[in-house]
Amino acid sequence: MADGDADLPKSIQGEQLEETGIVRASDEDVDLYVDRVSDEVLACRERGRHLFPTIRQAGIHFTEVDDEGLFVRRLTCTCCLLAVKVERWEGVRQRGRTRFHRVASNLEYRTGPDGQTYLAETGRGRMTPRQIGDSVASKALAGQTLTALRKAAKEAAKEAAKEAAQEAGGASGRRRPARTGDEAEAG
Ligand SMILES: [Zn+2]
Repeated sequence: MADGDADLPKSIQGEQLEETGIVRASDEDVDLYVDRVSDEVLACRERGRHLFPTIRQAGIHFTEVDDEGLFVRRLTCTCCLLAVKVERWEGVRQRGRTRFHRVASNLEYRTGPDGQTYLAETGRGRMTPRQIGDSVASKALAGQTLTALRKAAKEAAKEAAKEAAQEAGGASGRRRPARTGDEAEAG
């Protein structure tokens, strides 16, 4: 854009961070975090989402009534076991029945029995699922050369193409199941 005031070279990343106002954790901090947490925590981080059981799975049990008279329900993530969803429910009498509404929900993090924590140190920036994935992948691929990886990937592509060609050849020889509109009409 305005190249006149571009006296300081900025990375693309730096520009993005300025736009969003979110400070990202450095790659080094992400690598350190990936080394210290469990696979289950990494799974939630990489997914960018915790796995809470559904109401049918967990049942609905209230463990507290807050100051506003709302029912409190707590659910622990079945994957990392460190994230707790705290829900607040309200029960309203309506035409002789009680209708329940979840009016608020927030996340809390607990420390695991072995002292494990989900959150990284504060003040180190936010870690995105992509950063976690990048770090895990880089560690998994450490020690392999780009040349070897490229060669292996090209081999895999060749194999896949060969298999696809074989499959296509085989399929054309067989009789395809007739797909008419009969079934749709019958239903
Ligand atoms: Zn989780």
